[in-house]
Parts: sequence; structure tokens; C-alpha cells
Amino acid sequence: MLNVPPQAFPAPSSQQRAAAGGRAKVPLKPGRSLMDWIRLTKSGKDMTGLKGRLIEVTEDELAKHNKKEDCWICIRGFVYNVTPYMEYHPGGEDELMKAAGTDGTDLFDQVHRWVNYESMLKECLVGRMAVKPIAAPKGMLPEKKVLSGASKDLTPSYDWFQTDSLITIVIYTKQKDMNAELVILDHEDKRLRGEIIVDDYSYLLEVDLDHAVEEDMAVNIAEKVGKVEIILKKKDNVHWKILGQPLESHNTFMKRTDRGLFYRKCKLVLKTEVTHDTKLFCLLLPESTHLRVPTGQHVYLKQIIAGTEVVKPYTPVLPFLPLDFKEPSCHDSAHIYLMIKIYSCGLFTQALDHLQIGDCISVSNPEGSFKKSQVQTSEDLFLLAAGTGFTPMVKLLNFALTEVSCLRTVKLIFFNRTEDDILWRNQLEQLALKDQRFEIQFILSQPKKDWVGKQGMISSSLLSEFVKRSRKDSKVLICICGPTPFTEQGVQYLKDLGYSQEEVHPFTA
Ligand code: FAD
Ligand code: NAD
Repeated sequence: MLNVPPQAFPAPSSQQRAAAGGRAKVPLKPGRSLMDWIRLTKSGKDMTGLKGRLIEVTEDELAKHNKKEDCWICIRGFVYNVTPYMEYHPGGEDELMKAAGTDGTDLFDQVHRWVNYESMLKECLVGRMAVKPIAAPKGMLPEKKVLSGASKDLTPSYDWFQTDSLITIVIYTKQKDMNAELVILDHEDKRLRGEIIVDDYSYLLEVDLDHAVEEDMAVNIAEKVGKVEIILKKKDNVHWKILGQPLESHNTFMKRTDRGLFYRKCKLVLKTEVTHDTKLFCLLLPESTHLRVPTGQHVYLKQIIAGTEVVKPYTPVLPFLPLDFKEPSCHDSAHIYLMIKIYSCGLFTQALDHLQIGDCISVSNPEGSFKKSQVQTSEDLFLLAAGTGFTPMVKLLNFALTEVSCLRTVKLIFFNRTEDDILWRNQLEQLALKDQRFEIQFILSQPKKDWVGKQGMISSSLLSEFVKRSRKDSKVLICICGPTPFTEQGVQYLKDLGYSQEEVHPFTA
């Protein structure tokens, strides 16, 4: 609803804009970009009409402001006058009007809950709802989940003990297949945050530690019994009376989507060119962070641009495509690699491109709906990627070729505009030579005259030519990622070709 949902805002010159059937977004008038909005909010103009006053808003009052020329919306208990934002909303005025005069929290969460509307709309804040807020402000005062008897048994618990030099925190997750991707830990100064992922829920430890600890820590996971051990090194060898003061969300177990995004600062350590407009960014996680981004998931990057927090999603890749898939690959867990296309007028990517080696950027916890189990039993895997929609396919390809024993074929059908836009072409071709299960097909939409390969856009006939089960009853998974119209059309064509919903995974925000 608010801000720029990345897939919805293709470049004016992009084929995404030409999509007739896709979820066409309203082109914004000139002078109505996100940067223009940021400028307007900094201009000192009274955006609420209340001359800086904050008021308590009743439901009746909120409901009165339901017109384009006078539109208030409540998000998580806070009311914003979005009238001046109308023309800047990338999703169009009609989309914003769906929440006019009401609580738009659910609608907002459905579309892009990661957008930092507090920062984007801070000048539009009218005040708080007078009676009870309809949903608790995210990340501020999350309600402790009241669980039914059965689910209470599933709630993890923790314990701690100490020696002269160490503090050990043990979390009993009550999860059988615990692994490093389900454990996210951060500590800075004396503040410790530990999140354990249990399906769609997460258990949180959040403590202001009794005494200071060293930056580095150890994390041991007993996968079979679901026990997670966090070992912190005391800075001073003193006896701790308590682990620390519990913070707001400490010892809560709630839906992951009900938690605010948590960020830590990562250092840019390397930036290399992949193509004429795409770069590989290598970010170093702090020593005090334990974080592994699961296959098929993305993170959010946050930067302050002209005084406003701007957030965009990116999907971590590997530093290169491993060619030897005999052993489960052991990649370094201290770095996050991102392959990012720099758009000449892109707000976020231009700022990213200006980062210098040694600069820091905020990186969130991972999110995404893809589960490895979807691919674990596949015999045929088809990856339909367009442009940077290739990024989720990188880890997926590696995972499938390394760890999926029943896999017979993996086919990457990679759509690009020109040859120069193809990401990691050499590596993909080498992989195809090396591993006979893997096949690559490049399809260009704007090829030069000398291109002898396939050309065109995603279509039913193209998919029926390239997506075929290797055996009549093969278990198949088709993953698709690219510009929104590409993904939406692909999903529709596959449905028309008879593939079931379970056999198709579209990557979206
Ligand atoms: P924007 O400022 O949003 O604009 C991009 C282009 O569109 C610019 O050329 C701009 O001029 C034009 N534009 C912007 N707004 C408008 C408008 N209203 N009307 C007309 N033109 C407009 N990208 C990657 O490169 N790598 C990834 O790994 C990656 N992973 C992603 C994962 C997910 C889940 C999603 C949803 C997206 C991902 N993206 C990825 C895309 C990424 O999030 C950003 O959308 C992208 O980097 C562009 O951001 P930007 O702010 O630079 O561009
Ligand atoms: P691009 O504009 O260079 O286009 C690449 C190819 O996509 C084209 O050659 C064409 O075959 C196809 N395509 C483009 N527009 C189309 C349309 N309207 N209909 C049908 N096919 C179309 O691509 P890009 O600039 O690299 O953009 C990549 C997109 O992928 C971005 O929108 C980005 O947000 C998205 N993305 C999403 C995720 C995710 O959801 N997980 C991850 C990475 C990238």
C-alpha cells in the first residue's frame, strides 16, 4: 500500500511497464517519485493540517476522513493523514483508498509489512487512536501470545548457568530437526537477542545482560533433541546473580509475521562487477551475530536516504556457483553475498552503489515462504528466472544438486533482454558441461542480430517446449522469479498446462 513495492515499479523503459495482462500499476506523474516525496516531507509544509499538534482519534473521527481529498488511515494504532501522499503512492490512489477512514493494518501487512511507514509518513502523523488500538504497534509492545493448552506444550523454554569465565544459555526448542538456519542470535553491548524459528512461529529471548560479554560467542545445536546452547564469554570473571533484565519481548512465542524486522549492521567488504549493471556485494556479519539465510529466502536492507529510512528486499546468493556437488558444500557463514542490479534512476540501488568498502548497512533477519522440503522429493526441477530473478535460483540450484538424492534433471530457463545481461553465463555453461543433470536455456527478449539462441518472452508454447516431465509420473517442482508480470504470467501458463499449485513456487516479496 505505501512506499515502493519493488516488483511493482519497473523502470519506465522496462518491459515490465509494457505488460498488458500483469498487475499494471499506475504510472506516477512526473515529480512524484519516492525521492520527490522525501523532499516534500522535508520542506516544512504542514502535512496533517494540524500545525504539528498530535491528537487522539476516535473511530468515528477516523471514518469521516475517507475521501481522496481528505484521507486518514490507521496503521497499528497510529493515524496518518495520507492525503498529500496520494499522488506519490506507487500502487496508485485507488489502492490507498481501500483503507481510507479505516484500520489499514491488515491490508498493509498483506502487501508490504516490511516497509518502514513510520519513517516514510512521519510528517503525516495525526495521532493515536483514542480507544484501543486495533493491533499492537509492531516491535514496540508485542502482546505475549496466549496459547492454547496443546500449543503451550510446544513453547520453547530456556535455562542458564555459568562458570568463572562463561555464561551458557540453553534453549529447549521442543523441535526435532533444529538446525543453524533456525537460530538467529545477536548481541551488542549488553543486549542479547535470540530468535528460534519454529515453523511460522518464533521464540524470542531478549535480555539486557547482567554484565558485559566478549563479542564472539559459540552456538551449539543438538539437532536431534532440539537443544540450542549459546556460550558467551564473560568480560570480567565476576559471578552473575541473574542473566539480566528481561526486555519487552523476552520469552515470547508468537507468529513470526507479528514481530517487527530486526536489523544488524554489516560491513561491505567487497564489491565486484557481474555484468555492465549488476554487482556482487559481500557483506560481513558482526562476530556477535549468528545468522544463516535459508535457501529461497531474502533479507531486507535498510539505508537512510535523504533522512528517510528506505527498505528493499534482496536474495542472498553464493560467491560463485560451486561446480563440485559431491559433498554437501560448507559455505562460510560470516558473509552474505548479494547480486544487485544498479538501476540508473533507482533510489536504493544508486545509494548502495555509492557505499564504500568498510561502510556499514543494516541487514534484516531472513524472510520468505520457500521451504527446502518442497524440493527435497523432486525428481525434475525447473527454474524459470528473469533478470535478477536468478538470485533465489543460485542457492536452490546448489542445494538441489548437492542434497536432493532423487533428483534426475534440473533445467534453468533464463530470460534476459540481451546477451550482456546474462548473469554468471560462463559459470552456468561450465556447470552444464560438468553435471549432466543440469541443463541451461537462455532466452533473450531483445537480442542483437547475431544471437543464434532462443528469443522471445515467457509464453505458453515456450513453456510447453521446455518444461516437460522426464518421466510420465515424475515428481516435479517449478520455481519462478522475475518481474511481477513475468511471474504472474508464468504461473498462469503453468496452470493452463496442467501443473498443480503444489508443483509451482513463485518467488514474491
Ligand atoms: P526504484 O527506485 O524502485 O526504481 C527502479 C527503476 O524503476 C528505476 O529505474 C526507476 O527510475 C524506476 N521507477 C521507480 N519508481 C517508478 C515509478 N513510480 N514510475 C516509473 N518508474 C519508476 N533485486 C536485485 O537486484 N537483486 C536481488 O537479489 C533482489 N531480490 C529481491 C527479492 C525480493 C523478494 C523482491 C521483491 C525484490 C528483489 N529485488 C532484487 C528487487 C529490489 O528489491 C529492488 O526493487 C531493486 O533493487 C530496485 O530498487 P531501487 O530503489 O534502486 O529502484
Ligand atoms: P529486466 O527488465 O531486465 O527483464 C528480464 C526479462 O524479464 C526480460 O528479458 C523478459 O523476458 C522478462 N520480462 C520483463 N518484463 C516482462 C513483462 N512485462 N512480461 C513478461 N516478461 C517480462 O529484469 P530486471 O530489471 O533484472 O528485473 C528483475 C525483477 O525480478 C525485478 O522486478 C525484481 O524485483 C524481481 N526479483 C524478485 C525476487 C523475488 O521476488 N524473490 C528476487 C529477485 C528479483
